[in-house]
Amino acid sequence: MMTTIEILGRKNIITYGERSPADVGMGRANSGEDKIWIWNGLSHDGKRETLLHEILHQISEYADLDLTEQQVSILGIALNLLKMNPQETIIPESISTEGVSDET
Ligand SMILES: [Zn+2]
Repeated sequence: MMTTIEILGRKNIITYGERSPADVGMGRANSGEDKIWIWNGLSHDGKRETLLHEILHQISEYADLDLTEQQVSILGIALNLLKMNPQETIIPESISTEGVSDET
């Protein structure tokens, strides 16, 4: 299974596949080849969280942020909070539409 995603203007190929004995993690990011690999044995949420993690690695490389593994992991947790807390509950409708008055 293969999909693509554009990260900072660079088209990345995402491959979901089997794990080989050499694979230590759930996913891998290759910034030189614009490729991301995700273990297909993960649950849907696991794939999503791992993909988010690998996207952060690519952003770190592309933007020369030089993030550590720990920084990437922590940023992934922060972004996952948005999924665990649906927008309707943390951004009330009355606030999210404020200032958008010229459309009826
Ligand atoms: Zn990592």
